[in-house]
This record gives sequence, C-alpha cells and structure tokens, in this order.
Amino acid sequence: MASPNSLVLSTQIPQVKRLPDLARSLFNLIGEDPNREGLLRTPERFAKAMIELTKGYSQSEGDVIGEGIFKSESNGPVSVRDIEFFSLCEHHLLPFWGKASIAYLPADRILGLSKLARIVDMYGRRLQVQERLTAEIGGCIKQAINARAVIVSVEAQHMCMMMRGVGKVQSSTKTEFAWRSDDVDSSEFNRLLAQIERNR
Ligand SMILES: [Zn+2]
Repeated sequence: MASPNSLVLSTQIPQVKRLPDLARSLFNLIGEDPNREGLLRTPERFAKAMIELTKGYSQSEGDVIGEGIFKSESNGPVSVRDIEFFSLCEHHLLPFWGKASIAYLPADRILGLSKLARIVDMYGRRLQVQERLTAEIGGCIKQAINARAVIVSVEAQHMCMMMRGVGKVQSSTKTEFAWRSDDVDSSEFNRLLAQIERNR
C-alpha cells in the first residue's frame, strides 16, 4: 500500500544533493560564517543526517513487513511494549522521541515481532506529529494482518516543548490509537488494553 507521504521527500530524488547548499544558506541567514573552519564539513554532515532521519520516506509498508506475516497458532493477544523511536516534529523540524507500545488481537495471521519495531521506525523517520505517528502505526498493523483489534500507545518528549516556547522539560505527551472490529466485545478489548497499560 502506498503512503502519500512517500511521494513528498524520497531520498532517491536529485534534490537531496542540494541539502548541503541549504545548510550553507541557513548559516548565512542566522549570522554564521559558512567558511569558518569548524563549519566547513557541516553541510555534508547535515545532509547525511537529514537523509537518515527521514529515511522512512523511501520505505513502504510492504518493504518493512516483507515476508514477516505468519499464520496464527492461537487467537490470544499479542503485545510488545516500549519500542523506542525517534522522530522529527513537522512544525519545527525538532526531534521528539519516546516509546511505543502495541497490542493486537489476531484473526488468522500475526506479524513477526521485529516487524512491529520496523513499522514504528519507518513512520518515525518522517516528519510527524505524534498523533498521526500513533494512528499510522495502528492503521498499518490493522490492515497488514486484518487484526480483530489494535491498540497503540505512544509516550514522547518533544524538543520543541523543552528547548523553545513554553520551555517545559519534564512534560511528556501520550497519544493512543484504539480500534476494534464489531466481533470484539468491550471486556475482550479491555483485556487487550491492560496488556500495554500494566505497570505504567
Ligand atoms: Zn514541534
């Protein structure tokens, strides 16, 4: 399935070669000297870092899941907690980072556990808002294996909150995606929720 995001900033396109120029312009605009010795190689480093931090644009759901879908041996809940991620907020291009926890009820297929982490990474390595990151992870899992229910909980700290603006260093932001099909009743759903809420 193609994400509209993947069309926006593919790392394959020639514009990537212009990233170092962008960094040199930025230095000029903020009052730095791009020719100062300490900054001479920074534009190339900046370009490499930006490409790495946004490499999710050159990946698709099919790329990261690959062959990682298996027949389910039981219909019990599957959960993975505290998957670390790093992302860039699309409002300030500043980092936000945290942990994602995922729980789902399989129908007849499950995802390889490492694939859950790779899905989180792919969406994290794009310009994001935390709410959409959370929903995209959940939607991807739901669709990939036709799950009966999916919950994704993301807790993150945002550099744009900490280093600028309101300057709140200790605050963290929690977002949740929760979806269940009609055949999952609320008690079954609450047991799934308990899988990732436990010990929080
Ligand atoms: Zn921000």
